[in-house]
Amino acid sequence: MDTFIKENILQVNSQLGTKTKLIAVTKTKPVEVLMQAYQAGCTRFGENKVQEMTDKYEALPKDIDWHMIGHLQTNKVKYIAPFVALIHSVDSLKLLSEINKQALKNNRVISCLLQIYIAKEDTKFGLSEEEAIQLLQSPDFENLKNIQIVGLMGMATDTDNQEQIRAEFRSLRAFFESLREWSHPRVSMAELSMGMSGDFPIAVEEGSTLVRVGSAIFGKRN
Ligand SMILES: *Cc1c(COP(=O)(O)O)cnc(C)c1O
Repeated sequence: MDTFIKENILQVNSQLGTKTKLIAVTKTKPVEVLMQAYQAGCTRFGENKVQEMTDKYEALPKDIDWHMIGHLQTNKVKYIAPFVALIHSVDSLKLLSEINKQALKNNRVISCLLQIYIAKEDTKFGLSEEEAIQLLQSPDFENLKNIQIVGLMGMATDTDNQEQIRAEFRSLRAFFESLREWSHPRVSMAELSMGMSGDFPIAVEEGSTLVRVGSAIFGKRN
């Protein structure tokens, strides 16, 4: 066993405090590596590709929570609907409707986060605050009885400017707090998914409840 994985997990966990949970981002890593993280106490794994997540789900212990953190295509929702614990990357009503449909088929309620666009970059997916509110107010949203919106996810700009990163996380936190008053049976703002290897300590300070950390645990991806 590579002891560095265990040490890195301990190291990351020691920076999280009591309100923030670790999601180990295991994309591109083989199941043997996930097994080492599992044996070191990790039970939440984040993946960004449907096929990869499904293969790993089948190969690994069933008490693992699988988090979909990457952009999700509607035609692939059906493969993860039976087991996914939380979908972080909901960025359209169309996707949410498909998640609802597949959740119903599997006789379950699937927890989702709305991905909010906070970075000053063109490459990141997500909704603006206005679009998120429109989605929640849409008449079609009322028909989705097999999903639960449990919070928000966001990615800060990939920059060395710590103050910019902090400001972006802070704006997401403020939006999250404002939506706590949203009175709807299928909206409950409990989870704020923000922070990755390069910026999770700032995210924790700004109120993150879920950090998504990959390379700081497993090393650089190829
Ligand atoms: C890859 C990925 C992460 C983890 O990135 P690291 O920098 O390796 O920690 C977090 N969130 C999302 C959405 C990702 O795609």
